[in-house]
Amino acid sequence: MSDPREAVALALRGLADTLRHHRDLGLRDLTLASVPFPDPADALREQERARQGCQLCKLCKSRTNVAFGAGHARARLMVVGEGPGEEEDKQGVPFVGRAGQLLTKMLASVGFDRERDCYIANVVKCRPERNRNPEPDEVAACSPFLMAQIDTVRPHVILALGNFAAQTLIGTKEGITRLRGKTYPFRTAVLVPTFHPAFLLRNPGQEFKRMAWDDLKLARREYDARANDGGRTSG
Ligand code: URA
Repeated sequence: MSDPREAVALALRGLADTLRHHRDLGLRDLTLASVPFPDPADALREQERARQGCQLCKLCKSRTNVAFGAGHARARLMVVGEGPGEEEDKQGVPFVGRAGQLLTKMLASVGFDRERDCYIANVVKCRPERNRNPEPDEVAACSPFLMAQIDTVRPHVILALGNFAAQTLIGTKEGITRLRGKTYPFRTAVLVPTFHPAFLLRNPGQEFKRMAWDDLKLARREYDARANDGGRTSG
């Protein structure tokens, strides 16, 4: 890093992440003398550990496991879904069922390796019974943990899957068909909404698949543009 201003900016971003993480963990003391600069993988492990046995909302009554997140802690692509399904609830890992298998293929179709290039999380970390939509109080309870994940990974691009994730992150009631095809600034990233793979499995026609493919290509272009300018486009 030749420009010392870049080093200072990087250090300040690390400090901001740490302070946000401490706030989300409920820490009140500002002991700056001993603030560590955690490795993102350690920070995510600690966040996940802290959520085990979580009872902040009523989803804790029906879940088997918390499916906190999976993938690379320094990934520049973050994928956000709605909430764990049956298989995810069993394994405690997001997107490992049929929708997850399709997601893996969708990512691969534009050259993303799920393990190497992505970090994957959901709006809520516990399965809503019978896969119903998460309710506002459940989203509110879980939202600080998704924000902590985003602030730790600091992706350049966020792929929001389906109505629920896109509406929650963008803060709108607009449907995915109208939201998709465009990008939205989101914290230090750019957000690309697209159809949820479970929706694509339920609607096997070509029309939605073609639109999803366009969205994935858009995500890829945004990702490449930010990789080429060292991430500065995303702030
Ligand atoms: N659907 C989601 O939104 N998330 C998962 O983890 C699995 C299916």
